[in-house]
Amino acid sequence: MGELVKDLTPPCGPEPCPDRGRQLPPTDDGPPVQSPVGAGHGVPLPSCSGIASRENRDYTVDHRLEAARGSKEGTMLIVMKPHANEEDVRRVCQRIETLGYRAHPMPGAQRTAIGITGNQDPLEPEQFESLPGVAEAIPVSKPYKLVSREVKDEDSLIRVGSAEAGVTIGGRELAIIAGPCAVESREQVFAAAERVRRAGARLFRGGAFKPRTSPYSFQGLGGEGLKILAEARREFGLLIVTETIDPENCDLVEEYADVLQIGARNMQNFSLLKRVGRSKKPVLLKRGLSATLEEFLMAAEYVLSEGNYNVILCERGVRTFADHTRNTLDLSVIPAVKRLSHLPIIVDPSHGTGKRDKVIPLARAAVAVGADGLIVEVHPEPEAALSDGYQSLDPAQFEALMEQVSAIAGVIGRTVDRGAGAGSRMKEPATSVSTGD
Ligand code: PEP
Ligand code: MN
Repeated sequence: MGELVKDLTPPCGPEPCPDRGRQLPPTDDGPPVQSPVGAGHGVPLPSCSGIASRENRDYTVDHRLEAARGSKEGTMLIVMKPHANEEDVRRVCQRIETLGYRAHPMPGAQRTAIGITGNQDPLEPEQFESLPGVAEAIPVSKPYKLVSREVKDEDSLIRVGSAEAGVTIGGRELAIIAGPCAVESREQVFAAAERVRRAGARLFRGGAFKPRTSPYSFQGLGGEGLKILAEARREFGLLIVTETIDPENCDLVEEYADVLQIGARNMQNFSLLKRVGRSKKPVLLKRGLSATLEEFLMAAEYVLSEGNYNVILCERGVRTFADHTRNTLDLSVIPAVKRLSHLPIIVDPSHGTGKRDKVIPLARAAVAVGADGLIVEVHPEPEAALSDGYQSLDPAQFEALMEQVSAIAGVIGRTVDRGAGAGSRMKEPATSVSTGD
């Protein structure tokens, strides 16, 4: 969408142009887009004439060259020699910080790379290349830096939960997150948790704070919901994935969650992205309803740039003209992300299709195309769900999904991480499962 606006907006010359600085109309899901003609990128531009003129084509080329040049000069990656020691790395970080910038050391299997953020001006490679242990200082050509494979070649493995009982996302094993759209009651959560754990899920989803299109729709149980999720974690040994919807409620959600979910509508809530960037908990970042791949990766960059490198991307469908599904699940983004970024990416076939009968087929496809896992809505009684019932699987359908995606995973040399305890409860319930509300 951003690219389309950029390419179709008539450029403006030195003469004042009515479009300069104009706010384009807001999209359904996001803030108004600043017209690129008013962005003040400092390139001498031809005058406001027809879109198809020769000057306009030059403008596009000039603009892109300038943008590429700017990002190349402005950003740098320090690549350490394979035998560089901790002291060498520390010295480089110190040099970066003395210059007033932020250093992001990223250890890899072969060598450590150190990203630099916070610089506005071009950096001189020589000031780093002269330090012991440095192999080279190279400009980063992408607008995003820390999420890029240029900075870190190997896939990132994101650890969720404790070292002994946790799950790794991004490796050979697929991570399956399952549970209801929203936490509705203790009874509902326990019924869902028991069934999804028995079927082999190791992570449980459920929103305590719900971002709803209508202010009159169920908004979630809030803090009460978080406590129910914590009980389900204790009872079933599941790890909890739950959404934080604004920086103010993040402190509370962080106390309970094992993974902080950022919803599609918040993908460009920059203050929230910065807040979770300062968290110690991994972040599940869902793609915005109309986000380009670059916008998606730039959103992740916000989180990493604050120091939290534990980001899991999630494709959850984008809005198109198609009306046979709620959204169009863009599975082609999976290999595209894999090429550009070291971050893991999972798929949400529930929001991605919005229709129960399409969830299993798209879940199979997601695994086949290389997703690192799935997040699936499962409700013990989908017809009675307070939100997203029409796209929620019932527990038996989820069991079928697990069988089928495990088979697909085997074909491509992966496995589904069901954990040792699949099929059993952590402990017998002290009391019978009754409504806690
Ligand atoms: C959800 O996971 O229930 C949700 C609201 O997802 P999204 O942000 O992708 O719409
Ligand atoms: Mn939902």
